[in-house]
Amino acid sequence: MANKKPRKPAGRKNDNKVLRINFSWIYIIIIGFIIWMIFNRGAANPQKIEWAEVQTMFQSGDIKEIRFVRNDFKGTITIRPECLDKYKDKFGGEVPARSPHFIFLVSTAFDAEDEFTSLNASLSEEDRVKIVMENDSKVWGHILEWIFFPLLLILMWVWMFRGFRNGNMSGGGGGGMNPFNVGKASGKLTDKNKVKVTFKDVAGMYGAKEEVVEIVDFLKNPSKYTALGGKIPKGALLVGPPGTGKTLLAKAVAGEADVPFFSISGSDFVEVFVGVGASRVRDLFAQAKEKAPCIVFIDEIDAVGRARGRNVGFSSNDERENTLNQLLTEMDGFGTNSGVIVLAATNRADILDKALMRAGRFDRQIHVELPELKEREEIFKVHMNGLKVEKDFDLDFMAKHTAGFSGADIANVCNEAALTAARKDKKCIDKQDFLDAVDRIIGGLERKSAIITQKEKESIAHHEAGHAVVSWLLPYANPLFKVTLVPRGNALGAAWYLPEERKLWMKSQMIDEMSSLIGGRVAEEIVNGEPSTGAQNDLERLTSMAYAMVQYYGMSDKVGLLSFYDSTGARGYDLTKPYSDKTAELMDEEVKRLVKEIHDRTYHILVEHKEGFLKVAALLLRNEVIFAEDVEKILGPKVKPASDAENVAIDEEKDEKTSD
Ligand code: ADP
Ligand code: ZN
Repeated sequence: MANKKPRKPAGRKNDNKVLRINFSWIYIIIIGFIIWMIFNRGAANPQKIEWAEVQTMFQSGDIKEIRFVRNDFKGTITIRPECLDKYKDKFGGEVPARSPHFIFLVSTAFDAEDEFTSLNASLSEEDRVKIVMENDSKVWGHILEWIFFPLLLILMWVWMFRGFRNGNMSGGGGGGMNPFNVGKASGKLTDKNKVKVTFKDVAGMYGAKEEVVEIVDFLKNPSKYTALGGKIPKGALLVGPPGTGKTLLAKAVAGEADVPFFSISGSDFVEVFVGVGASRVRDLFAQAKEKAPCIVFIDEIDAVGRARGRNVGFSSNDERENTLNQLLTEMDGFGTNSGVIVLAATNRADILDKALMRAGRFDRQIHVELPELKEREEIFKVHMNGLKVEKDFDLDFMAKHTAGFSGADIANVCNEAALTAARKDKKCIDKQDFLDAVDRIIGGLERKSAIITQKEKESIAHHEAGHAVVSWLLPYANPLFKVTLVPRGNALGAAWYLPEERKLWMKSQMIDEMSSLIGGRVAEEIVNGEPSTGAQNDLERLTSMAYAMVQYYGMSDKVGLLSFYDSTGARGYDLTKPYSDKTAELMDEEVKRLVKEIHDRTYHILVEHKEGFLKVAALLLRNEVIFAEDVEKILGPKVKPASDAENVAIDEEKDEKTSD
């Protein structure tokens, strides 16, 4: 069960290498061939001379042999070796190594036999020149011109196409050699009978599973939905880091619904050849429609779906945009009830083109995160299914030791553990094997940063607790709903908030929001006495919010009611700023002052509630995940805006509680 799956990024890197080697071999061969031709020609090139010179040479008796090509009116001369010195300067001072040494051309009226016989007659017996008459059939020239070069060209094309098919395709449809097949999508069709994956194989991922159940239901009995006139989503986007089981989940949907499963990677669409991507998309959907109902799974959709650039002329990848446009057209093209459901996976939903997310396309986003403690335990269970593990094995212990591991990493651990135990000729796999496997996986992991040590875990717990506590205590900050220690994207821990659908932000709301953003950093300062790099993402957002307040929303008294927001987008990459240097300085100062004020305010809040804050951090460290209820137990109810009289009362109550 525990199949060791190569990590995707590494796999792709290898593919690229195959591709490059193929190309470079072709180049080397061609360049070598050209160089060889040039040198060869230079060395073999006889010097051209006039008929008059030939006559003088003849008379001086230096010529050993003349070969005359009758139908070409061309003759070549070989000089007697002992006479070669005389002609050195014609060859740039060197005695030529190859014969023939000279070449001459004559007019069509030239009577070769006559001329040579009369010339030879005037020479003494031993000086006579050997005359060879011949007709050139030019076979080789023709072969070279008409067959060899075109052949070389065709070979090159075939080679190139094959190279990049082998290099890039996941499994390739038929006709790998055929260059005319480039535009064919090689979406891998997994046969109905082959998708054996069901939800049972997918551990954890409760939220995600719940969301896709509906898709399964639709695929099973579409009439139930269409009878009521309901529209089924055409596509869903699975968002999450690599190895978290996005492909697995998509397969499980197909498996549960018992429908065919097409899978293709976004990078397959983006090729060097113009128009290939778009035609592959067309082809893929044509195939899918034939087999409907079915699931089309597009892995790494960000390869095609990245937001289209503003300045098209400048952008380097129009090809990708064409492909994306085709994808959008196809998704709009098939009816909601055609039974084709497109699932796509990415770990960067933020860079995708907004058009992809519009209604009727990937209008659903399903977030798949790295598994938490309990989920990890379940994933271990799934992958230990076929393994011989020692009795009363401590799953909980393993789960605790693999914070930050993805599902794929855990599958790897189980496999490694089995191999380690086998190497030692053990009857069953024990805890030590698993621990060794964990060490090995961590060692081989590219993103070592994702694995958290105990020390880091503490620091992250404090950071996240800082966010949580500050947002809990500030009336306008988004209410918290979940905090985890599990790394997510490039941020380490994460606090999830339920954003209130705010179109209009009051200044105080923005300030509260920014305070909770900076809360993590401030918490680190309070507990560790020094900051860490963990707050980079928070500070980035804080900075852009602060600049937005000053530059766009006119919320700084000193700068005044000016907005430099570029809503037309016309300014683009214009380097001149619509304000003076002095204003720029003033704005920078205002932003710094604002951030400083927010920092100090947050600092006071956290110091004042230090006890509660430390309790939240400790709970987080112990459970890896806490919810709003847990925070409420420690800090009391969430602080609400003061306008709400009822809440004010509660606030006072809570203040008493914490000061006790
Ligand atoms: P992604 O597509 O998100 O990169 P995959 O679906 O390819 O990840 O997952 C790779 C492997 O990791 C799967 O084949 C499976 O063995 C294992 N795996 C990942 N997540 C889970 C999970 N939740 N439950 C069980 N196995 C998982
Ligand atoms: Zn943070």
